Amino acid sequence: MLQAGKGTFSRGPAMLPRYLTRFDPDYIRGVARQIPYQRLQGGLFPGIEVWMRRDDLLDPLVSGNKAYKLLYNIQRMRDQGLDTIITCGGAWSNHIHATAAAGQRFGFKTLGIIRGHRPARFSATLRDAERFGMELYFVSRAHYKKRAAGDFLASLDLQTRRGHFIPEGGANMEGLMGLRMLGEVINESSPVDFDQVWLACGTGVSLAGLQAGLGTAKVVGIPVLKAESGIRKEVSTWLADARCRRTPEVLNGYHCGGYARQTDELTDFQQHFERVTRIPLEPVYTAKLAYALSKEIDAGNLAPHCRILLLHTGGLQGRRGLCIG
Ligand SMILES: *Cc1c(COP(=O)(O)O)cnc(C)c1O
Repeated sequence: MLQAGKGTFSRGPAMLPRYLTRFDPDYIRGVARQIPYQRLQGGLFPGIEVWMRRDDLLDPLVSGNKAYKLLYNIQRMRDQGLDTIITCGGAWSNHIHATAAAGQRFGFKTLGIIRGHRPARFSATLRDAERFGMELYFVSRAHYKKRAAGDFLASLDLQTRRGHFIPEGGANMEGLMGLRMLGEVINESSPVDFDQVWLACGTGVSLAGLQAGLGTAKVVGIPVLKAESGIRKEVSTWLADARCRRTPEVLNGYHCGGYARQTDELTDFQQHFERVTRIPLEPVYTAKLAYALSKEIDAGNLAPHCRILLLHTGGLQGRRGLCIG
């Protein structure tokens, strides 16, 4: 169980995002301690005490878990005397968006390698990224598949850029360290003792980092991609690298058709959740997270009165790609 710390919490809907003015570990840790925990009322999760930690409020642009993943990557870039972050992602990537926004605000260059040929009309995410000053580099889907290869940058003639490369989604050890810090902050700041901490998973790095930081608390990950079985293996590899012996639970069956796919039931649930709590979600990650919890409660898989913390991992900019609400 996670012991209560001394965090702030609030029931009110009218909470505004903070605005990060620095980007170093001490500062971010301090801001993270102020993030509110919100009790979810209104009969959404009958018989269970559910709270949401609002890391979507960390910053309006450098949002949620992507901010924590960037933190030690940017430090690494600076320590190496480099001035550019090179990374990759799709046209609606939260990681691309957060990286570009951080580069503009904190004074480093950003280069985004984007999956697929340059479109005639940019997604809202890419329009923002370009406006934030990110240099966009479009590659064919076939070429993009080689993004994990050691010579990926060389194959694009980008090896001469003085950049620190971050893999897709911010999935590296530095990314994990940022989420481990978030886990430590949750230990210090949670307003009540939580039995379980839940979050949505893409690469699984956030799940691994949180487990490493949270220690003994039970952590539950909800994969949003169809390749669910791969996540468990990825997570255990990350945890071994981080020398963490605990294994989080991975709960399959809630990808709703795959990455960025939706079902009518998911959409209905998201709209209902947003109406009742007045907390905005996005359909790729956080809606599936809350939906999974609701279905698990319906199925009788949770002990009565247990206390669950859901992490709002941000990424609301992605709502613009998937029309809802
Ligand atoms: C990227 C993202 C995740 C998943 O993080 P991973 O570390 O890749 O598992 C969850 N929620 C949101 C909102 C995200 O943008």
